[in-house]
Amino acid sequence: MLLASIMIDLHSHTNESDGTFSPAELIAEAQRVGVRTLAITDHDTFAGYDQAVQFSREAGVDLICGIELSTKWNGTSVHLLGYFFDPTEMSAFRKWILELQVSRRDRNRRLIEKLREVGVDITMEEVDERGRGMTGRPHFARVLMDKGYVSTIQQAFDVYLADSGKAYVDRMEPQFAEAVRMIREAGGITSMAHPVRWNGDFAAALPALCKTGLHAIEAYHSDHSPEQREQFLFLARQYGLLVTGGSDFHGTVKPGIQLGTGREGNVGVPADVLRAFAQR
Ligand code: AMP
Ligand code: ZN
Ligand code: FE
Ligand code: FE
Repeated sequence: MLLASIMIDLHSHTNESDGTFSPAELIAEAQRVGVRTLAITDHDTFAGYDQAVQFSREAGVDLICGIELSTKWNGTSVHLLGYFFDPTEMSAFRKWILELQVSRRDRNRRLIEKLREVGVDITMEEVDERGRGMTGRPHFARVLMDKGYVSTIQQAFDVYLADSGKAYVDRMEPQFAEAVRMIREAGGITSMAHPVRWNGDFAAALPALCKTGLHAIEAYHSDHSPEQREQFLFLARQYGLLVTGGSDFHGTVKPGIQLGTGREGNVGVPADVLRAFAQR
């Protein structure tokens, strides 16, 4: 592995969404491993970023305000990253994600009812204890495991929580194009998260994705093989898109992934990624 002198990581989660590190712990980890520029991209919330700002100043970490939104594209779930450079100009966007959080809480209530119908007894208190402001299916999965209904997180999804699981309930998610528009209106840059998880032919979808106003694709990611990374860099060049990258660090729930370097050093975000951002 090459040691980069200045490490950049533009995809990370705190325990304000489904990570396990508190905002303070995440900044300490960035300092420990040598990440100098860090974006916190929690799912549907800025709570982790907001708390991390003061710690990042003390630690000398350049902190970028980010978010990861779950969106719909032709009925399938697609993650979209947003990066914001003027957090004071974002009140309309912050209001909009509060509405998303209300619909998530409503979904959680219905999910508990549906689980009860199929013989699983868990309460909102139990899931909220883990998920706090941003309880999602990963927190349900952990409670199902702790209470012995399943033996792994993946089994909790496969049997109960996945879109094809027996307790699945729908949640209002914004359309991809709407989410791109909202981020752009808030002055942000948009990037397609982990394109390797795209359902179907990603290259064939790119012209339509570009039409939504998407700025970038996340070429560097822990789930990308070197060949996939090169393919995404090639596609970005072909379509005139910027690239972003990061580890998608979640702390101890995804133990194989290190902040800054991903899985066994498979993520190394080059500095020209930031230069490209700055030009925008
Ligand atoms: P939520 O936003 O509460 O609907 O939860 C979505 C999250 O659940 C995703 O970001 C994934 O981390 C996880 N997830 C969704 N579907 C699956 C699946 N089939 N297997 C494992 N994890 C999943
Ligand atoms: Zn996550
Ligand atoms: Fe994601
Ligand atoms: Fe993520």
